Formats: sequence, structure tokens, C-alpha cells
Amino acid sequence: MYDLEQYRDMMAKCSHCGLCQATCPVYLEEFLQTHLARARVDLIRAVLLEGDLPESKRFREVLDRCLLCTNCSRTCPAGVTPDEIIAAARNQVYQGKKRNPVRRQLLRRFMNQRGMKGLMGAAGTVAHKMGWTPEELPAPASKPFEKRFKNKVPAKGRARAKVAYFVGCATNTLYPDTGKAVVNVLAHNDIEVLIPEGQVCCGMPSLAEGDLTLVQEMMRKNVPVLAGCDVDAIVTDCTSCGMMFKTKAVKSLPEEDPLRAQAETLAEKVWEVTDYLNHVGLTVDPGPLPESYTYHIPCHRSWTPTVDDAPRTLLSRIPDTELVELEHPDKCCGAGGTFFMDFKELATDIRSRKLADIEQTGADTVLTQCPACRSHLRTQIEDDRVTHPIVVLAKAYGL
Ligand code: SF4
Ligand code: SF4
Repeated sequence: MYDLEQYRDMMAKCSHCGLCQATCPVYLEEFLQTHLARARVDLIRAVLLEGDLPESKRFREVLDRCLLCTNCSRTCPAGVTPDEIIAAARNQVYQGKKRNPVRRQLLRRFMNQRGMKGLMGAAGTVAHKMGWTPEELPAPASKPFEKRFKNKVPAKGRARAKVAYFVGCATNTLYPDTGKAVVNVLAHNDIEVLIPEGQVCCGMPSLAEGDLTLVQEMMRKNVPVLAGCDVDAIVTDCTSCGMMFKTKAVKSLPEEDPLRAQAETLAEKVWEVTDYLNHVGLTVDPGPLPESYTYHIPCHRSWTPTVDDAPRTLLSRIPDTELVELEHPDKCCGAGGTFFMDFKELATDIRSRKLADIEQTGADTVLTQCPACRSHLRTQIEDDRVTHPIVVLAKAYGL
């Protein structure tokens, strides 16, 4: 488990160099030194490890006003991972005194029931009680991905590889178009796709919520299901799901737990789908698609070195398709799991900068591999102007 005590030595490595301030979306919006990663780490140490300061309301606000975007961890030259320290601190603080019991209950149902049943059952009343407007909570698709595709999608030609597809909750429930494109494009490129039964959420919402017990619970369900697949790779279309399997959720399991070793082995096989396609190569050339795109790089990308360039490389294979770069392609959009609900104004301000950048490109459509970014952006851009890069490739194949 993320135990704060285990991060004590790492916390001491922070030299207060301040390099993380250049990438923290919260700091860049508010310019408050107290919300900088180094200050948060110092405060967590003083309150939760040393007991020098009280666990005040202000402390909890500093803890919560973080997107867990991981930008500080990616920037830090000392190898400090403030996002993990903050997640561990949230877990410690909110254990027993639930941060938001109604939302936790909703999340638990959503994550355990692959989104659809839990969401549909509770969304109407709870969403309104929570102040979520329909605009902020995209409507679920009429039929989730798991009802459209089951078991296996065979390769179009002779299978050159076999993959298991981990379908994230958002793709399953909100964006089955992405899932459809994933299986069709892989199959079209002679890759057999297994869709293992029994998958549940990757645990990301619980990590943000400070509920590491639920992250562990999800891993106890997902790891045996995925490890049981005899495949060359495990692909996901969501960078946050990928990050959970590759780096974050693995750490929720105790080191002596045999499942931890299994999860670590499994992590080596995890790929984001566009990155995987570049890795194995396309066997079929896409047809021309005279459209213009821009690309928003999701924050949760540091688990693999090539994922941020993967959509660019794939797009360059499509004749007549233009990629117009954002001025700041890797700047956060402000979604951050449930952050945009808790700090609506701040999330909206962060998003406005991203939207202005998108608009100045003049591109027809914005691409991103993160469904949370897609949802957050789509409230201000027409729905069909935000999509996953794999959907573009499927379109270029005429699938
Ligand atoms: S970049 Fe790392 S070492 Fe520098 S202030 Fe931030 S957390 Fe501390
Ligand atoms: S995780 Fe993101 S929002 Fe949180 S302190 Fe680090 S850079 Fe800032």
C-alpha cells in the first residue's frame, strides 16, 4: 500500500529547486506557493509524519486542490513523486472519515459494475444531489462496448499477434466508438483481440479519491483476469488506465503479496493502443482523409516514453491528413478525475487556456487518448470535434 512512512526518505530529497512550478497547472493558474508540489510535500510531512502542524481544513484543501496530473513528478530532477505522496496522504486522511460518502458509494458501484448499471441506477438522483449537471456528466451511450463486443475479435488475415484489450469504464460506458475503433483497427492489421470477461475499473477514480483500499480491490479482480490471458500484449485506449497498470495501482499491493509479482509481470505487457500499433507497425496503409487535427497530450503519459508521440506518428501515415500542433500540446486541460467537480472554477479556468489554444489552430477536430480530457473538453467544443486518435485511423481505413 502507499504508506506515507515509505516516502519519508524521498520527501527529504526535495531540494526546493522549484522546477516543478513550471508544470503545475494549479500553480500556473493561481500562483500560490502553498499549492506548489514542494510546499504540499513539506506540509504533508509536517502534519502527517511529524505532527508539527494540525490536520486543519486548510491542510485538506491543499491536499485536495491537486489534479494528480503527475507533471511535478515528471519534472522533478530528484526523483520525488509528489503525486504519489499526495495520494498516500489523502488515503491516510480520508480513511475512516469519508471525503464524500455519496460520491464514494457511486464510484464504488460504477467501478465494480463496469460503469453502466451503477451509473444508470444512481446517476439521475445522485448526480443532481451532487450538483453535477448533465453537461458535466456526459450521457452514457445507448449500448456499452461490452454489450457490442465479447470474447474475441479475430484478425482479418493470418494473426501475427494476440492482444488482450483492457476496456476502461469511460470507453465502455461513454465512448464505445473508441472501443469499436480499437478492435476493428487491430483486427484490420492482423492482430487478434481478446476481450477478457470479468474486467473492472482500473482504480484511477479511487486513487484520486484517496481510497487506496478500493484501488487494491480492483487490482485483485483485474490482475488474475488479465494474467490468465495468453497474449503478446495488453492494450488500452486510455492513458490513465495504462498508467495505473504500469506504475500506480501496482504499488497498492503489498510487496510480499504474490499478486504484486503477477501485477509487475503483467505491467511489462501494457501498451496504449496507438503506441502499440507504432511498435508493431501497420500492415495495411490507410486511405486518404482530407481533415485537419490537433492533438492534446494527456498528463498521464510518463509511464511510457513513446505514448505522447504515438498519435502524431500514426497520423503521419494517413494521406492528406493535417496535424496542426497546439502551442502547448502538453498543458493540462483541468479535468483531473473528479477534480473538475470539486474545483469547478479552477478547472474551468485551466480549460479555457487549452480551449483558446485549440481554437487558434483552426483544426477540425482535437484528439486525445484520455476519455476524462475528452469529456472535459467536449462541454465547450461540439461532441464530434473531440475524439481518440484511433477513431481517425479507423475512419481512414473506412471501418
Ligand atoms: S522539482 Fe522536485 S526537488 Fe525540485 S522543488 Fe519540485 S519536488 Fe522538490
Ligand atoms: S500532481 Fe499536478 S496539480 Fe498536483 S502538485 Fe503535481 S503538478 Fe501540481
